[in-house]
Amino acid sequence: MDSVSDQFSRPLRDLRISVTDRCNFRCVYCMPREVFGPGYAFVPRKDLLTLEEIARIAQAFATLGMRKVRITGGEPLIRRNLEHLIEMLNATSGIEDISLTTNGSMLTAGRALALKQAGLRRLTVSLDALDDKTFKQINDVDYPASRVLDGIENARSAGFSEIKVNAVVRRGFNEHAVLDLVDYFRGTGCIVRFIEYMDVGETNGWNLDDVIPARELISQIDAKYPVEPISPNYQGEVAKRWRFRDDQGEIGFITSVTESFCGDCSRARLSAVGKIYTCLFATEGHDLRMLVRSGASDSDLLESIKNIWQARSDRYSELRGMNVPMPDSGKSKVEMSHIGG
Ligand code: SAM
Ligand code: SF4
Ligand code: SF4
Repeated sequence: MDSVSDQFSRPLRDLRISVTDRCNFRCVYCMPREVFGPGYAFVPRKDLLTLEEIARIAQAFATLGMRKVRITGGEPLIRRNLEHLIEMLNATSGIEDISLTTNGSMLTAGRALALKQAGLRRLTVSLDALDDKTFKQINDVDYPASRVLDGIENARSAGFSEIKVNAVVRRGFNEHAVLDLVDYFRGTGCIVRFIEYMDVGETNGWNLDDVIPARELISQIDAKYPVEPISPNYQGEVAKRWRFRDDQGEIGFITSVTESFCGDCSRARLSAVGKIYTCLFATEGHDLRMLVRSGASDSDLLESIKNIWQARSDRYSELRGMNVPMPDSGKSKVEMSHIGG
């Protein structure tokens, strides 16, 4: 098997696969209703990669050293027969880990079991607040937090252990939810990860003042439950890990804004229409669907992905932190719902 490195000697290790651009939520920081409301042009079905096309592309990535796949969206559980994709990925040599990020609203007991049986290894459920007033303000579809908690329970009963819970923290919205989430999940085996609100896409009206630095959250949590940092599980781990000193588990912080981690970034993203993005903040993708649908051979596909990765020099968060002119400024960044988190 080949392996491939980019312009900063970063290997290709992870692939995030967005299986749909649609979602049943309208989170204000991701798919604001004013933009993604009636009239918004979602991708027509014929333009979505088929599950077989996704599996074929993933196989090519695995040949180049990719080891971990995360399935995302939009809301990935909207995609019919997703379990079949998971089975195909599971049978792909080189892929060691398959995980999925979901809003939890479709995690019925039956679906959770089907995902587990198909070979899904790990599950992340997004939940930004436990009180309905805040949670509904964020999801903007009147969805209660208790039903997401039910989804998490269903996943646990299906045999998923160490479920991660993602919470985006935005000043003025849900900072009070941080301790609620810690109180609720501490000691349960679920790992809550607090994510700094990011300037992904162009539609959420992001402002630096809305970002609550992780260090602020850490002192807030530490004052109630003393915590200490622990080493990453592996090089390039996105979340910084902290443990409760009284052995009640751990929490994580994704400091994309205040402490960038571009130096270790080994992630590529495949959009639902088959474009490869080499950064979450990219403005342009590389079209693999056209290649796949025009009868390209496996070695053509491999060569194309290799060239894309070798040319990669993205380090958006690092540059943003340095206050230098940004490459591609003035061009529109791709939306989160097209490439997943
Ligand atoms: N719909 C699924 C979900 O919400 O888990 C998967 C896709 S969603 C785009 C993936 C993750 O990105 C979620 O945890 C979401 O909270 C996070 N996210 C979306 N927009 C964000 C933003 N502007 N800043 C930080 N995280 C964001
Ligand atoms: Fe949907 Fe996830 Fe975006 Fe919320 S964060 S709108 S659940 S894709
Ligand atoms: Fe990776 Fe781009 Fe995020 Fe940096 S800004 S960590 S290169 S996705």
